[in-house]
Amino acid sequence: MVVKMKTPTIPITEIEQSAFCQTDDELKAKSLEEEFDAGVRWQKLPVSYMRMSPEELDDRITEARAKLGSRVVILGHHYQRDEIIKFADYRGDSFKLSLLAASMKDSEFILFCGVHFMAETADILSAPHQKVVLPNLTAGCSMADMARIDDVLDCWDDLRDVLGEDHGVTPITYMNSTAAIKALCGRNDGIVCTSSNAAATFKWAYEKGERVLFIPDQHLGRNTGVKMGIDLEEMIVWNPFKPLGGNTEDEIRNARLILWQGHCSVHTRFTVDQIEQAREKFPKVQVLAHPECTMEVVQAADYNGSTEFIKNFVSEAAPGSVIAVGTEISMIKRLAAENPDKTVFCLDSVVCPCSTMYRIHPAYLSWVLDGLNEGVVVNQISVDEETAEQSRVALDRMLTVESPTRTQAKAKSPSLHQA
Ligand code: SF4
Repeated sequence: MVVKMKTPTIPITEIEQSAFCQTDDELKAKSLEEEFDAGVRWQKLPVSYMRMSPEELDDRITEARAKLGSRVVILGHHYQRDEIIKFADYRGDSFKLSLLAASMKDSEFILFCGVHFMAETADILSAPHQKVVLPNLTAGCSMADMARIDDVLDCWDDLRDVLGEDHGVTPITYMNSTAAIKALCGRNDGIVCTSSNAAATFKWAYEKGERVLFIPDQHLGRNTGVKMGIDLEEMIVWNPFKPLGGNTEDEIRNARLILWQGHCSVHTRFTVDQIEQAREKFPKVQVLAHPECTMEVVQAADYNGSTEFIKNFVSEAAPGSVIAVGTEISMIKRLAAENPDKTVFCLDSVVCPCSTMYRIHPAYLSWVLDGLNEGVVVNQISVDEETAEQSRVALDRMLTVESPTRTQAKAKSPSLHQA
């Protein structure tokens, strides 16, 4: 077996994550020129858009949107800023928006206000005559960037070398991954999952094989494995920069769940201490955590579930409820504003939006809408046909498994212990 040494690298999106963090709780729109001061990469665009005030951009977007009429549909992820969400025809999490993209065959353009992997999935699922546009091409995702296809292919080869051709490993990739990784899952009897149906996809995978390779979020993978009753000792973490992922051959042979060493820079900010402080301050607080949080946080929370689950939980809670949430701040602030009869707040007192989602500034939305009105498709996201076809196989498999809507974290798995 050839042992490959690699230089560890940190995705630029991870390094830039804290660029928009602030200690006061204002996340007010500024002109793009002012926001350029945040130390992140921005896509270049005509300078006139950079100088427009929030009000000018508002008017301009409204006008351009009206001119396009039903030729365009705007999809907005829950983590987008308010100044974008107000123009979204539909809002949802990545799964809901992908399904919407697949069903809206009448619109010529799907303008995806989210991040790169979501626009790719929309392109895969949309009809051939539709064009998907991402307003700012630097809106990536640090988690997706932690799993590069070449590294995942190396891992797949290593697993085959250690376990043999008949290795019984089913690859499951979280929606938050590149199209190339979804395609790898499609051609290797694997599947895509979301945070709401991860357990159902694990069940599907273990019914046909003895092992799962979960890419790219180790925390969602671990939390789901624990929920399925898999012991932590049967899980290993695959570090793509170390030979055999940093594991021995025996550890690989004994593993039932191989977790790619990736994480979400936003959800790993939450801590058990923050939960304890929220409980001290509000003894009746209900704590909700997204399953991209660490296992310790998910286990300490009262409930955990997907973005849609969190949204529904807050909307359906009784008036007067106090709810602390561990997820992206733009969404929590919107939930708080839409539920004024409840106290809804973020577990983390530092205001830290997802820095890649936040890069969809209204200036970019205005720029791409103007382009469409002038017959120019700016920032089209296009996945090549072979990759798209193989990805569709894995996405279609996902649609065949059931997805529970609510997960209560208090029912802890008896197998849980510190690794
Ligand atoms: S919140 Fe995390 S997983 Fe979601 S887009 Fe941002 S970095 Fe990626």
